[in-house]
Amino acid sequence: MRFSPPRSSVLAAFVLGLGLTLLAFPAQGQGTSFNAALPLAHVDNGPNSAWAENQHYLVLVSLDGFRWDYAKRDNATHLLAIGKAGVWAPEGMMPSYPSLTFPNHYTLVTGLYPEHHGIVANSFLDPARGARYAMTDPQAVSDGSWYGGVPLWSLAESQGMRTACLLWVGCEARIAGFRPSYYTTFDSKTQATPQAEQARIDNTLALLRLAAADRPHFIAIYFSSPDHEGHAFGPDARETREAALRMDALVGKLRAALRATGLPIDLVVVSDHGMAKSEGGGIDLDQFAGLAGFDTVGDLLYGQTEEDRARVYNQLKHATSQFMVYRRKDVPAGLNYNQNPREGDPVVVATGAYAIRAHAPPAGETSRPPAIGIDGFDPRTLPEMKASFFAVGPDLREGKTVASFDNVNVYPWMAHLLGLTPPKNDGSLSILSGTLRDDGAAPENRKAIDEP
Ligand SMILES: [Zn+2]
Repeated sequence: MRFSPPRSSVLAAFVLGLGLTLLAFPAQGQGTSFNAALPLAHVDNGPNSAWAENQHYLVLVSLDGFRWDYAKRDNATHLLAIGKAGVWAPEGMMPSYPSLTFPNHYTLVTGLYPEHHGIVANSFLDPARGARYAMTDPQAVSDGSWYGGVPLWSLAESQGMRTACLLWVGCEARIAGFRPSYYTTFDSKTQATPQAEQARIDNTLALLRLAAADRPHFIAIYFSSPDHEGHAFGPDARETREAALRMDALVGKLRAALRATGLPIDLVVVSDHGMAKSEGGGIDLDQFAGLAGFDTVGDLLYGQTEEDRARVYNQLKHATSQFMVYRRKDVPAGLNYNQNPREGDPVVVATGAYAIRAHAPPAGETSRPPAIGIDGFDPRTLPEMKASFFAVGPDLREGKTVASFDNVNVYPWMAHLLGLTPPKNDGSLSILSGTLRDDGAAPENRKAIDEP
């Protein structure tokens, strides 16, 4: 793919040796510039089409690990105010299984269960490909061949609408033929600094100040708190509560700034999953079963022969009440986790907040203390896994609450907010259509709906 400088004369840019164009600053702005703490790459997908220019805007924010009940528990006034002025799910949103960061961020933007989009865990093996995907591997995360489905930014770009993606899972990869027009490269060391957190807001505003032809209509923004604190200190710790309120304050700042643009922007704030206090000291599956002949990644087991798979299944079957084990094809249908070879076979499903892994790391490699808070579990067994959902904007009803719903339904709803036609997916617009001022009417009928 060829990268070329942005067409807008408002933008000044410099080109790095890598072939990416990084946005540096507006030559003449209104006091807002791109914040260098979070460099944005630009790929020229052309200007917004005339149709796209007339569509509304959608800013999607994820607060990693912001459990469904944190807002009320900690009196997160900005999020609660969004719920009051718009829409929220007071009983939480159901994450897809496994309730982990990478699978669920990618589900939110594709409307597909993890086994359908392929990111079935934060790290996993693809047996057919003989290769491993790991969230910590920059080469894997930026390789579009790992990702299925059509992320909302690729859908928009394919329909003539410009987008931006700030640290969301999949941002850096070319997926379904497109990269976002503006995107960031994930850097675990710097992304959680206060400067880089503020930079997400500065860059969003700078993007919204671009000329209409270049201005992204969909902006996805990821924040890694309060997940980080939830793991380190537990969901109920002071540090986690403080982090939740710090993120709430950032959301408040962003909302005020978005309103000040005067643009018709819908703001959606979600999380990927919740957080539970870890029970017990962790479980190593190799205590119960001989895993010779298995490749393993975390708690995923990839048996090389049918004989190995059957043997380990039988060894694990009655090992403990702390997990269930299934041959992959027999994993209960409600988990949507029984079709993709990347899930391994057999499949272990925890019955509580137990940290499960195939093997203990070799002696001398236990550098990290065991996490106090953990995620990844079935939200129907562990309601602490439920995620947050808040939204407000010109296309959304006021003071509307929704019952718990599966997060696959966010994608068709966001596509509708942007006037896009989504591909077939696991969600349905009907689940959230009651939150829409147009009740989900087809785009051509929308003009008849009066805005408040
Ligand atoms: Zn997460």
